[in-house]
Amino acid sequence: MNYQPCPDDVRFVLNAVLDATPRLNSLTPFAEVDDALQAQLLDEAGKFVAEVIAPLNRGGDEIGCRFVDGKVIAPPGFRDAYQAFVDGGWPALSAAPEDGGQGLPAVFEAVLFEWLSAANHGLTMAPGLLHGAYECLKHHGSDELKQHYLAKIASGEWLATMCLTEAHAGSDLGQVRTRAAPQADGSLRVAGTKIFISGGEHDLSDNIVHLVLCRLPDAPAGPKGLSLALVPKWLPDGTRNAAHCERIEEKMGLHGSPTCVMRFDDATGWLIGEPHRGLAAMFVMMNAARLHVALQGLGLLDAAWQKADAYARERRQMRAPKPAAAPPGAGPDLIAQHPAIRRILDTQRAWIDGGRVLAYRTAIELDVAKHHPDAARRARAQRWCGLVTPVLKAAFTHQAFHGASECLQVFGGHGYVREWGIEQVVRDARVTMIYEGTNEIQAIDLLARKVLADGGAGLSAVLIGLRDELDASRETDADVQRRLAQLRYLTTTVAMAAQADTVLPYEVADDYLRVVALVLLAWAWARIDVAAAQAGDTGTRWSAPAAAFRRHLLPEFDMRLGMVKRACEDAARAGTA
Ligand SMILES: Cc1cc2nc3c(=O)[nH]c(=O)nc-3n(C[C@H](O)[C@H](O)[C@H](O)COP(=O)(O)OP(=O)(O)OC[C@H]3O[C@@H](n4cnc5c(N)ncnc54)[C@H](O)[C@@H]3O)c2cc1C
Repeated sequence: MNYQPCPDDVRFVLNAVLDATPRLNSLTPFAEVDDALQAQLLDEAGKFVAEVIAPLNRGGDEIGCRFVDGKVIAPPGFRDAYQAFVDGGWPALSAAPEDGGQGLPAVFEAVLFEWLSAANHGLTMAPGLLHGAYECLKHHGSDELKQHYLAKIASGEWLATMCLTEAHAGSDLGQVRTRAAPQADGSLRVAGTKIFISGGEHDLSDNIVHLVLCRLPDAPAGPKGLSLALVPKWLPDGTRNAAHCERIEEKMGLHGSPTCVMRFDDATGWLIGEPHRGLAAMFVMMNAARLHVALQGLGLLDAAWQKADAYARERRQMRAPKPAAAPPGAGPDLIAQHPAIRRILDTQRAWIDGGRVLAYRTAIELDVAKHHPDAARRARAQRWCGLVTPVLKAAFTHQAFHGASECLQVFGGHGYVREWGIEQVVRDARVTMIYEGTNEIQAIDLLARKVLADGGAGLSAVLIGLRDELDASRETDADVQRRLAQLRYLTTTVAMAAQADTVLPYEVADDYLRVVALVLLAWAWARIDVAAAQAGDTGTRWSAPAAAFRRHLLPEFDMRLGMVKRACEDAARAGTA
């Protein structure tokens, strides 16, 4: 069974829950966006994903990418599908019209990439970095570089990579050793070896533009000495650059995406941005990529859920003790009727639906941060994106793997064998917890680098904003309000304890991130509840996952809160002993 996008569900979240069109209309570039355009776009994107991308997923996994004579050959059908993706203008969806893009809101691109990842994670890795590379070049590239590369990247005609990792430098990019030597003509000679580079070499596009983190000769040690270079596979004069793939990795999943060891042998490149400011330039790309990976998590979980839900509606075993409302024609012996299976399915649905509210809201805030006329509103949006993005990356990718594994359980032994394809989702999803900054690094980024940097004031402002939104829409959900207040109090407690014990934030970061994720989800579900009631929803489509969220997921909030509080109390006791 291939993944099937469901535009109606997405429309409900965008329109009934998030009021997306009026929000977007308040931004000058999107004043003309209306519900009709949105509907047409979602329908066409859904059709393209279902008909062109999803059918190649199984072959991508089973045949995978091949490395032959220094070249990488994509799985059957990938090259044509990617060409159709480019021809359809899909890579350029949210790029600016002056760069050849369609100038549409980021949230439409977010939906598209969620669906693409759900349908075919391996193939979607190829264009996954395009938008980040485009933004990075647009904001930090020289006019000459922009003139030569920007439109090709915006259109997807040339694909891009992000070359950060080296054998000894993974999470700690300050250890990067790749060298860049300035030349008299203003170019650089780039030398070093990068590992784990997604799409470092392939036959999907005629050229590949590598963005390489490197060090100039006079660079200070550590992260403050990193620069960013653009190194194309083919140089503007048509000669082959000295950027070569040494091998591709054999890996657990994601066989449709080549993970390359890349050797730069004094390859020709050009500086992007200022010397030693490479990380700042790269962060533009990494932030976009982190939301993108969060969307991969949601998509993969939805793919797993679709398979498990369909299977549970057909598989008959012993009669359920108290059959739930049965689908038409179903008997009480369907496993979908068993409470244990319903719990698995409904809790994953709770993550996906609530997760969509948060991910799409973040994509809207990205545009607000760029285009809103009021500087204070732009700053608020920026704060939301900075604080919420690491939470979504870590929480959704964690759930993608663990939730997909739960969905595999729905198949019993049939899930463990290849036939139904659910085991592929589990294998593919695992890496999302690792790349784009491991989930442990996301938690530290959230608590140690962001929340505590201003004593919790920024997060508190976000939480107060959420409270006010609930108040304004008269969604008097006292339980959510209480939890928002509890998180604010917890943040103050951690900030005070961290003054005496500087290690504490690193110890509690993962639990703290879960607390934030669950309170955000609780807020999202409060919004969904109201929207479903206003839409006159009387079925179980929204109420069943809402109930599962409150019964099976939300109690984790209290547990994690208790764990962080306990660590703070221990730290205080140790300080006074
Ligand atoms: C399939 C795949 C595709 C990839 N694609 C790319 C790509 O396109 N470009 C690219 O540059 N890289 C890519 N990567 C590399 C990926 O980003 C790194 O693997 C990741 O950043 C982790 O680095 P590492 O593997 O060296 O692990 P390490 O950094 O060695 O980490 C090992 C463990 O220690 C933990 N850890 C490390 N430091 C800390 C800390 N300070 N606090 C708490 N815990 C810590 C980590 O969370 C992890 O659990 C890819 C990797 C894979 C597997």
